[in-house]
Amino acid sequence: MHDDLKGKTALVTGSGKKTGIGYAIAKKLAECGMNVVIADLGEVSGKGEQIRIATSSEMEEIARSFEREAGVGAIACACDVTDTESIARMMERIKEKFGRLDVLCNNAGASFGVPNSVISYDGAAWMKTIDVNLHSVFHVSRAAFPLMLGAPASIINTASRAGKVPPIFNGAYAVAKAGVIMLTKVMAKELAGAGIRVNAVCPAQINTDLEKWRFGLEAQVFNSTVEEREKEMCKTIPLGRLGEPVEVADLFAFLASRESAYITGQAINICGGQLMEL
Ligand code: NAD
Repeated sequence: MHDDLKGKTALVTGSGKKTGIGYAIAKKLAECGMNVVIADLGEVSGKGEQIRIATSSEMEEIARSFEREAGVGAIACACDVTDTESIARMMERIKEKFGRLDVLCNNAGASFGVPNSVISYDGAAWMKTIDVNLHSVFHVSRAAFPLMLGAPASIINTASRAGKVPPIFNGAYAVAKAGVIMLTKVMAKELAGAGIRVNAVCPAQINTDLEKWRFGLEAQVFNSTVEEREKEMCKTIPLGRLGEPVEVADLFAFLASRESAYITGQAINICGGQLMEL
């Protein structure tokens, strides 16, 4: 399946932890025969993260396992997706190693300063959340653009259900993800002529560190347990369970491949039916 991806190159941001959606995407694309760039914070880790971030040794280990097991090229790039110099250095490495980029998955994301209402939100945490989730897509896509010209290419952005349905006490993240959806649509129109399709994926409740952290916060607020919060959440999902990162990865592979050649500018839900739109 997705035979057209073989021998091409993908960059996946936020892919340095084996528990995350980014790793599942990178693994799936490697299994499709793509060379893969594992990009995550590693040693350029910022401060104040509320969820564990990927380490450089983990990222290296992942890249080596893809080379070994999928027989593809793989590099690990320590990169902060909010830092344009760090991004430029990564693009140089990609150019040197692979020459071009066919698929860009803007997947890195995080929330800072939550839970908090808009009124009491810390200003710096608000800006950082918008930087990591939204401005990163702007910066990385612009830097990748010259490497994506000359052959059909695909950009896939990880947005969120939170970009469509307002959550409470997580406002900066929701605003940023709504921005990712609009940025996706603007870029889809502007880049179509250059042969670059741009789509967003909107996951809801996917079983990762981020989701466990969120249940932990809810457990504090509702004086409950993580298990009880998860059980309550599953009652709101028609398919009755959390999604798995590999299920999101399958959608990314479809949107990367020529099987989705006529799809651009869309924000596709992957949520077990939790959100249904006309
Ligand atoms: P995660 O915390 O496991 O993964 C996020 C990754 O992004 C981490 O590896 C982290 O190190 C990396 N990262 C954070 N800041 C970065 C920066 N400045 N530069 C580079 N890398 C950075 O969470 P996840 O659930 O795998 O989330 C992946 C994406 O999916 C995120 O964009 C998230 O907002 C989105 N999402 C997740 C869910 C869910 O239910 N898990 C739902 C909707 C959207």
